Amino acid sequence: MDVTVVGAGVIGLTTGVLLQEAGTNTRILTDRPVAETTSNAAGGIWYPYNAPDDPDVDAWMHDTLDELTVLADEEPNLVRRCETRQYFYESVPDPSWSAMPDLFRHANPSELPAGRTHGWIFSSVIIDTPRYIVWLRKRFEEAGGEIQQKAVASLDDLGGLIMNCAGLGAHQIAPDPTVYPIRGQVIRIANPGLEFATLDDENPAGLTYILPRFDDCILGGSSDADDWNLETDAELTAAILRRCSEVEPRVAGARILDVRVGLRPGRPSIRVEREDRPDATVVHNYGHAGNGFSTSWATARRAVRLLQA
Ligand SMILES: Cc1cc2nc3c(=O)[nH]c(=O)nc-3n(C[C@H](O)[C@H](O)[C@H](O)COP(=O)(O)OP(=O)(O)OC[C@H]3O[C@@H](n4cnc5c(N)ncnc54)[C@H](O)[C@@H]3O)c2cc1C
Repeated sequence: MDVTVVGAGVIGLTTGVLLQEAGTNTRILTDRPVAETTSNAAGGIWYPYNAPDDPDVDAWMHDTLDELTVLADEEPNLVRRCETRQYFYESVPDPSWSAMPDLFRHANPSELPAGRTHGWIFSSVIIDTPRYIVWLRKRFEEAGGEIQQKAVASLDDLGGLIMNCAGLGAHQIAPDPTVYPIRGQVIRIANPGLEFATLDDENPAGLTYILPRFDDCILGGSSDADDWNLETDAELTAAILRRCSEVEPRVAGARILDVRVGLRPGRPSIRVEREDRPDATVVHNYGHAGNGFSTSWATARRAVRLLQA
């Protein structure tokens, strides 16, 4: 069985790995170099970030957390278990996903930075996203898969069995007008020895998060719908540094490694769906917005089952 996957971000590579390891002959087409996709800009925490209210998405989050937790034991230099602290400025109900992590509890007052009145402390995993992308690529190629750098103007130009994992590119090639960019900017610093991740999304000054990975640490962030600009914004960089230093003073003097921008593939919900066309069978697997790593394995497994059916 020959399959063409469009896209070499975390979704296309994960789907490609599953297809190739199941014995199909898989080629991946990507218009950008593998190291320059949105997936390489991502922080990499498992967390339902603005996840749509959809039972399928809940199940994908749950199953992918299980899979990433196993990977944290098998590939401890790529994925690590990490305690996460999320802060609030008023009382909030527990989230629908509170039973998914092994640990979920309320923060004690002594665990809250000044100004925050409530908090959740839960177990999660953090992926070193650039290293993880290299690892997925290697796993795919060692299983015999092939990657070609080539733009696809429309899925109509391809025949046979197709996996559409084009992320934001689905706007054009599906075409799907409900897909839109959600711009995100992050700063990568040398890790000043932080142990736990911090989410301060409700910070009135702007979206704030700190994700210690291995050698580096991601400071975020931003989330701007319909903004296609891939250039870094120096004012935003300064503002992110200010916000993160206020909540965790140890990041203030850390060495800045680089600043990254990515366009999350926004969509009202993730699309994992089979479409039978006259000359082709297309399985769509795109629109993961801010949850691509957090749902990657489960959506890829679902997509592969749809193709095999
Ligand atoms: C700043 C930031 C922080 C984030 N943090 C997290 C996080 O902590 N946890 C999490 O789970 N998620 C996070 N995300 C979201 C995550 O990065 C995305 O959900 C994920 O990368 C989407 O993966 P993808 O493979 O669908 O898309 P992409 O990585 O964008 O890959 C799309 C692929 O399709 C190819 N393509 C597109 N159009 C065409 C075409 N016409 N022809 C050929 N190839 C094409 C591209 O070249 C690319 O290879 C973050 C995102 C950003 C920007």
